[in-house]
Amino acid sequence: MILEIMVELKVYNSILKGDKKPGYILCKHIPVSFREDDALEKLWLEHDQALKDFKVEKEEVNPSLLDLKREIAYRIYHKCSFCERKCKIDRDVREGVCNVSKARVASEFLHMGEEEVFIPSYTIFFSGCTFNCVFCQNWDISQYKTGIYIQPEILADMIEKRNEQGARNVNWVGGDPTPNIPYIIDVLINCNSLIPQIWNSNMYCSIETMKLLHGIIDVYLTDFKYGNDKCSLRLSKIKNYLEIIKRNHIIAYKQTDILIRHLVMPNHVECCSIPIIRWIADNLPKAAVNIMGQYHPEYKAMEYDDIARYPKHSEIRRVTEEVKELNITIV
Ligand code: SF4
Repeated sequence: MILEIMVELKVYNSILKGDKKPGYILCKHIPVSFREDDALEKLWLEHDQALKDFKVEKEEVNPSLLDLKREIAYRIYHKCSFCERKCKIDRDVREGVCNVSKARVASEFLHMGEEEVFIPSYTIFFSGCTFNCVFCQNWDISQYKTGIYIQPEILADMIEKRNEQGARNVNWVGGDPTPNIPYIIDVLINCNSLIPQIWNSNMYCSIETMKLLHGIIDVYLTDFKYGNDKCSLRLSKIKNYLEIIKRNHIIAYKQTDILIRHLVMPNHVECCSIPIIRWIADNLPKAAVNIMGQYHPEYKAMEYDDIARYPKHSEIRRVTEEVKELNITIV
């Protein structure tokens, strides 16, 4: 099982072996030119050109591509469109649908429950989420404000310590990490650990966010939930789910490694699981998939008849058989 995924996560394994540097470190070595009063469009042009040229200097440069990404991220922060909710609010003034203004870390620890290839994983859980899933398994941190603001330099030190303790990666999650991109970049500017960065997300990011993540993130650990927009609207209050999630998976697949998680939900095998699996086979043939069978009714799930129970073995088996049938790598 491990051997299969070793083949698929090429970037991640190269970083672990020391053959390659994490993307965010490389971004510190890519020179750019910009001014703080440049228009956002001009900043994007410089950003896109730097990624295209990918001219990596021996020493860290100032300003670097990572500095430019920070500048762009804070511009977006003041008229927020990090996710496709596109609240367009100044997050210093108020919170959007995600309930996040300043980043709040709900917990951080060496996680031993992730996929085997990732453990121990230094997992940083943010409070707040761009989704409102009625069955959320982490509802206490995703739907309510909790946690504390940690100075970026301090969190960078914590990453270095966790790396020394054996962490194989930094795993940015929540809720969802999407609203916290400016903060994450601030942390990485202060960090020098040669440790891969994982983006553990529902993937409802805007195109701009996917561009900011390009070069920084080494592995996308995605959560593909629904096979249609009716289920996403009813159970997560999300519109236009499928088009956005498919788009972002294709972008992520082109950027770097990807491992797709799919949580099998009771009564959602034919409408959600099977269409997702077939789409992955057709569009992301080298992506690895983790079929998760641990769904249990949480939060408000008991108010929804279809998801008010555990999935049956037969439902999980139906999905895993489809994955095998289509020759998708399974972890
Ligand atoms: S990240 Fe939050 S504030 Fe920004 S667009 Fe999404 S829901 Fe709105």
